Amino acid sequence: MTDKNISPKLPQKFLSDLETAIGIKAIITNHDDIAPYMVEQRGRFVGETSLVVTPQTTQEVSDVVKLCAEHSIGIVPQGGHTGLVSGGIPFAGDNAIVLNTSRLNKIRAIDPVNNTMIVEAGCILQTIQEHADNHDRLFPLSLGAEGSCQIGGNIATNAGGINVIRYGNTRQLVLGLEVVTPTGEIWNGLRALQKDNTGYDLKQLYIGSEGTLGIITAAVLQLFPKPKEQQTAILALTDLDAALPLLNQAQEMLGDALTSFELLPRIGVDFSLKHGQGVVDPIEGRYDWYILMEASVSLTDSNLKALFQNYLETAFEKNWVQDGVLAQSKAQSDSFWLLRENITLCQKAEGGSIKHDISVPVSSVPAFIKAANEAVRKMIPGIRPHPFGHLGDGNIHYNLSQPLDMDKQDYLDRWEEVNRVVHDIVHNFNGSISAEHGIGRVKRDENQHYKSPVEMQLMKNIKKSLDPKGIMNPGKLIRPN
Ligand SMILES: Cc1cc2nc3c(=O)[nH]c(=O)nc-3n(C[C@H](O)[C@H](O)[C@H](O)COP(=O)(O)OP(=O)(O)OC[C@H]3O[C@@H](n4cnc5c(N)ncnc54)[C@H](O)[C@@H]3O)c2cc1C
Repeated sequence: MTDKNISPKLPQKFLSDLETAIGIKAIITNHDDIAPYMVEQRGRFVGETSLVVTPQTTQEVSDVVKLCAEHSIGIVPQGGHTGLVSGGIPFAGDNAIVLNTSRLNKIRAIDPVNNTMIVEAGCILQTIQEHADNHDRLFPLSLGAEGSCQIGGNIATNAGGINVIRYGNTRQLVLGLEVVTPTGEIWNGLRALQKDNTGYDLKQLYIGSEGTLGIITAAVLQLFPKPKEQQTAILALTDLDAALPLLNQAQEMLGDALTSFELLPRIGVDFSLKHGQGVVDPIEGRYDWYILMEASVSLTDSNLKALFQNYLETAFEKNWVQDGVLAQSKAQSDSFWLLRENITLCQKAEGGSIKHDISVPVSSVPAFIKAANEAVRKMIPGIRPHPFGHLGDGNIHYNLSQPLDMDKQDYLDRWEEVNRVVHDIVHNFNGSISAEHGIGRVKRDENQHYKSPVEMQLMKNIKKSLDPKGIMNPGKLIRPN
C-alpha cells in the first residue's frame, strides 16, 4: 500500500500490518478522500491527518488500537462528525489518525420484553429510534443532528437534546457498553441489567469521556413504552420572567408527562423564518419570548388533551402567556419543531455567531440571560443575543450574532474575550460552561480555568491510569502535560 499522501510519521511496518488486519478498503490515505473527515461541523477548524480508518467489527477496532499503541500513534475516534467542540478531528502536531465508526453499524439485538436494544457505535441515532418504534418502543434521545450523529458519539459526549426533563441525558439511557481500551483489549460490558452493584460503574466513566479513555464499540440502550398520545404547544410569553412559573405549573398539572420545554427568542424565530425552508410563524403578532412544549403519555385512553387545555387556561388566567397554539395534528406539531430546529441551523446566514452551550440552575435561567445580555451589549454595541434551548433542564444555547454593521472577522476575533465574560457570569450562577456538547479541543483551556485543581487532577489521574501512553484522542478534554 503506497500513497504519496502518507505522512512520513507513520512507519511502513505499521501501515502494512494495518492493511493485513483490516484490509485496504478500510484505509483512506488520499488527501481528497480524507478532507471530508477533517472539516468540523462549525467550520472553525480543519483537522490534519494522513490516515483515516473505517473498521467494520469490534475485533478490527481492537487490531487498529493495538497497532497504534505499539507505535505510539494517537487515535481520534469519530462518529457522525456533528460534534460542536472540535473533539472528532486531530490537530496539527497530534500525530494521530482518525478511526471513523460509520461502518460499525449493526443493530445486534432488540428485546422488547426487557426494554433493551444492543447497537453498534456507528448506528445513526434516527435509525435506532425507528427500529425501536417498529417494535412499539421508544428510544427517547432526540436532537437536531439525529439524522447523522451516531450513538457512539452520543454516548461519548453524553448527549442531551429535547427530552431530557422526562428521560434524562444519554447517561440515563445506557445500561451497558462494549469498549476497546487504549491497549486494544475488548471490554464486554454489554449487560442489560437494571441492577448491577458489582463495583465501579465503568460504563459511566466512558459516557461523556469524549474518546479520551477508549473506543465505544457497542451499547445496551434502555427503551421505553411508546407514547400513545402527544400534545405540543407553542406559547407567546408575557415576558421572560413568566417562563419559570409556566414551567412549574406544567410540572404540577402535567406531571411527568412533560417531555420538552424549550425557550425561543423572537430574534431566533425571525432567523428561522427568514432563512429556514418551509418554516411558518405559528402565532400572529410579534412577542419577545416563546415556549415550545410537549407532553406525552403511553396510556391508550388518557385525558392528556384535557389536562393540557386546563393547563393552558391557567397560563392565560395568570397572565403568563399572551397567545398560544395547541397543535391539532402531527404535521402542525412537526412544523413547531421545524421552527425550533432551524434556529440552530439559520444563525450562519446572519454572519458571525459566538456560541456558548451553558447550563445554570433552572431557577436562574432568566437572571442569567438578563445579566449576560447586559454584559455583552456593553462590550459590543449592536451585538444580537439569541439565547434559546432547553429551559426545562437549565441548558441555554447562549449564542450571539454579530452586529449588522460589523466586519465578520473582526467580530469573530473577539470569540475568546466574549466567552470569558459570559462564562464568568455562568460561573457566578454556579453553572457549567458545557451543558451538552462537551469540551473537545475548543473548550479545553476554558474548562481548566473554571474547574478546581482538585477536580482537574482527579481527571488527569484517571486519564493517566487508563491511557498511560496518551494515545486516545490526544489534546482533547485534558491538556497534555
Ligand atoms: C444541528 C445540531 C444540533 C445539535 N443538537 C444537540 C443537542 O440538542 N444536544 C446535544 O447533546 N448535542 C447536540 N448537537 C451536537 C452533536 O450532535 C452531539 O454532540 C452528538 O452526540 C455527536 O455525535 P457524533 O456521532 O456526531 O459524534 P462526533 O462529532 O463524531 O464525535 C464527538 C466526540 O465523541 C468522540 N467519539 C465519537 N464516537 C466515539 C466512539 N465510538 N467512542 C469513543 N469516542 C467517540 C469523538 O472523538 C468526539 O470527541 C447538535 C449538533 C448539531 C449539528
